[in-house]
Amino acid sequence: MTARIAYTKPSITELEVSYATDAARNGWGAQCYDYLNRLERDFAAHLGVRHTIATSSCTGALHLGLAALGIGPGDEVIMADTNWIASVAPVVHLGATPVFVDILADTWCADPAQVEAAITPRTKAIMAVHLYGSMCDMNRLLDVGERHGIAIVEDAAEAIGSAWGEKRAGSMGAFGTFSFHGTKTMTTGEGGMFVTNDTALFEKVNTLSNHGRDASEPRQFFPLMTGYKFKMSNIAAAIGCAQMERIDELIDGKRRIMAHYRELLAGVNGISLNVEPAGVTNGYWMPTVVFDRDTGVSREQLIEAFKQADIDARVFFWPLSELPMFEARPGSTNARDIAARAINLPSYHDMDEAAQARVADVIKGALKA
Ligand SMILES: *Cc1c(COP(=O)(O)O)cnc(C)c1O
Repeated sequence: MTARIAYTKPSITELEVSYATDAARNGWGAQCYDYLNRLERDFAAHLGVRHTIATSSCTGALHLGLAALGIGPGDEVIMADTNWIASVAPVVHLGATPVFVDILADTWCADPAQVEAAITPRTKAIMAVHLYGSMCDMNRLLDVGERHGIAIVEDAAEAIGSAWGEKRAGSMGAFGTFSFHGTKTMTTGEGGMFVTNDTALFEKVNTLSNHGRDASEPRQFFPLMTGYKFKMSNIAAAIGCAQMERIDELIDGKRRIMAHYRELLAGVNGISLNVEPAGVTNGYWMPTVVFDRDTGVSREQLIEAFKQADIDARVFFWPLSELPMFEARPGSTNARDIAARAINLPSYHDMDEAAQARVADVIKGALKA
């Protein structure tokens, strides 16, 4: 019997274990922020940004950033309909209204023309989510933002290792956010990062994330506003520091797996894979196959075929507008149509070529069925 193939699992070595052990043993008192400070420094250097704040999750980082931009009731935030709930939840919790637009058929990211068309006097931000590591068209979005005076924010949770030209995903918007959940390219178990080059915004988020306590307030335990508590623990940060030392290896692993899927599936008609347009680097968090419409292959068939082969595969994100808490959006043609004939492939760092070949065989089998 062959073993079950998991879709993702983190790459944890003796380095992560030794740092976490050190943090558990010694990271208290005067040392209680050592790994946190180091992770924030290392991540800022990796990304090429001025400021970073480690958080308990990417969702928390997004919540803080949007709150610091003053987003609240009456405001609208534009984003792609194809997204994980985490990107939209903070918008809803802040009392603002999410506005969904369709995705492009090739990059699976927000269609910039539809983004611009969706702008109203209430639009406060445009959220660029780099889906599965594929970059949003940042030239167009940043230009739209500038012309309309609207903040572009980047949810780069899936885009560690992705870049737009020389600029890394998450480093271009008013702020960027990252996730270190166990399924992501780099992990701290649960965790996230807020990043920005805007010093005033950084200070606002720092205060908000510290229960409203301003760094310059001389009185102890004297918050100046009702803030939030979305902090990462020093023990989690210790694991993150080890992952940062190995970040190139972790990113290369994802790219190697994608490259091998491309080899295995070269010459197979009727499917398309993650794209990497000229000038763009895709971190390939999640290799994905979209079956052409005329193959007739459906999401439901794929789920069943992978189950039969004892392989974990994930469905392409449902359009948010198909979830019960949002209004239906029939105009999201690509978001609805692509999700119905696509599947995410396993891509854990230590995946070997034999396991990838098993995955490719299921894809080829689905086309013959
Ligand atoms: C994983 C993910 C999140 C949520 O990250 P958490 O750390 O679990 O909060 C947010 N946005 C995107 C695009 C994600 O992929």
